[in-house]
Amino acid sequence: MAAKKDSEIIIIGAGAAGLLAADALSRAGKKCLILEANNRIGGRIFTVLEKNHFPVELGAEFIHGRPRVTWDLLKRFRMKAVPVSNVRWRQNGDGFRQDSSSWERLSQTLSQLKSAKKDRSLASALSKMKVSPLAKEMAERFVRSYHASDIRKISVNDLVFQQKTSGDEGMRGYRIVEGYGALLGNLAAALPSRSIRLNQTVQEIRWSRDGAEILTQKSRFKAARVLVTVPLGVLKYPGALVFRPALRAKEAALKKLEMGFAARLSLIFSEPFWQNGGRGNPYGFFQAEGAAIPIWWTGLFKDSPVLTGWMGGPETQELNDFNLFIRHGLESLSGLFGLDQKLLKLKLRRAYFHDWNSDPFSRGAYTYCGVGGMPAREEFARPVERTIFFAGEATDNSGEASTVAGAFLSGLRAAKEIIASAI
Ligand SMILES: Cc1cc2nc3c(=O)[nH]c(=O)nc-3n(C[C@H](O)[C@H](O)[C@H](O)COP(=O)(O)OP(=O)(O)OC[C@H]3O[C@@H](n4cnc5c(N)ncnc54)[C@H](O)[C@@H]3O)c2cc1C
Repeated sequence: MAAKKDSEIIIIGAGAAGLLAADALSRAGKKCLILEANNRIGGRIFTVLEKNHFPVELGAEFIHGRPRVTWDLLKRFRMKAVPVSNVRWRQNGDGFRQDSSSWERLSQTLSQLKSAKKDRSLASALSKMKVSPLAKEMAERFVRSYHASDIRKISVNDLVFQQKTSGDEGMRGYRIVEGYGALLGNLAAALPSRSIRLNQTVQEIRWSRDGAEILTQKSRFKAARVLVTVPLGVLKYPGALVFRPALRAKEAALKKLEMGFAARLSLIFSEPFWQNGGRGNPYGFFQAEGAAIPIWWTGLFKDSPVLTGWMGGPETQELNDFNLFIRHGLESLSGLFGLDQKLLKLKLRRAYFHDWNSDPFSRGAYTYCGVGGMPAREEFARPVERTIFFAGEATDNSGEASTVAGAFLSGLRAAKEIIASAI
């Protein structure tokens, strides 16, 4: 094992939280080093460029609403984001029609959920609500999918909080024209040289109030302060990252937070065939009722020949066979567009999928709060002995948790805490 290297601050993870924390710390004159397990930066932001340079996202794709932290960064790097068409389309026998009524019905059901002294799961709250079975099913489907959650576990109090803080604007989506990856690329490029070490999987942190020793699979580092930004799924995975002594103070909070599971598939076709035939030129989101992959959306521009399928919830953990996933995708689209599967296969050029659920550096998609877990994000975020600090989407307490904006905000919060801890 290589000799110890001393640093003022070590940040574990070069995702949105780690990179923005490093940016804030460097701008405040602090010296920091990021240790990243992967051979790339970005974490759950993973953009690949298609042949003609349009970005395909394998992880985060949308900016939800107008979170200032994200829009300020876009401004700083002179990057552009464009609104996503929010139109929802449904197959209507001989073509597509816009479907706003089911969205309104869903909003009505969700708005009936109220915060209560005794928290409960969505499944439990819905079972007591006076709404039609269809409305219940829609609410279940939406929360499972959008929050990547198990409806038997997700906290209604937290759902209500998130809905209140994001409001209607939060449901409006935007996409970065150059891709999300370019934003993180710009952040990384703005750091002093050699601030990031890739392929360094942190396995153990030996800590005390005087500092920490960090062991990766090949090196040892020493630092006065450590900022941990690895996903909750990694922290909860037995043996993935060991703290000596163990972080007893965090155990209760980690138990109350859940890593959600999701799977997405982007299919690139020879042409945007869904735009043909003068049937309303659907562009936006499609509901493929009863299909294996039930939600689809179109690409950045109207003529982008890409369709992305999405599923959320615990059952997506089984979806780790790429070829099977593509088959499910083509089956779903065949039903949705009334096209022969063989024809779709002929039009298919490439497919993109990343298995976030079993990726050892994510172990899931993004977090949600379990029943009674509302204070858990704050507890998780609290520094330990002015040595170990925490950031990452799971630690955001402002209502942006689970998202890139939440990760950015948590990075800024942790950087402030480190600066205030006066090294
Ligand atoms: C499929 C999918 C779709 C999503 N869609 C959206 C969306 O549209 N909009 C949105 O706002 N959010 C979305 N999200 C969520 C968003 O991607 C995350 O909230 C955000 O990127 C998390 O940033 P982070 O810095 O907290 O964590 P991460 O990005 O996960 O960064 C943590 C870093 O730690 C590294 N790491 C892990 N273990 C170790 C270790 N042992 N040693 C060293 N490094 C380690 C990881 O490799 C990673 O780079 C999506 C997520 C997924 C998976």
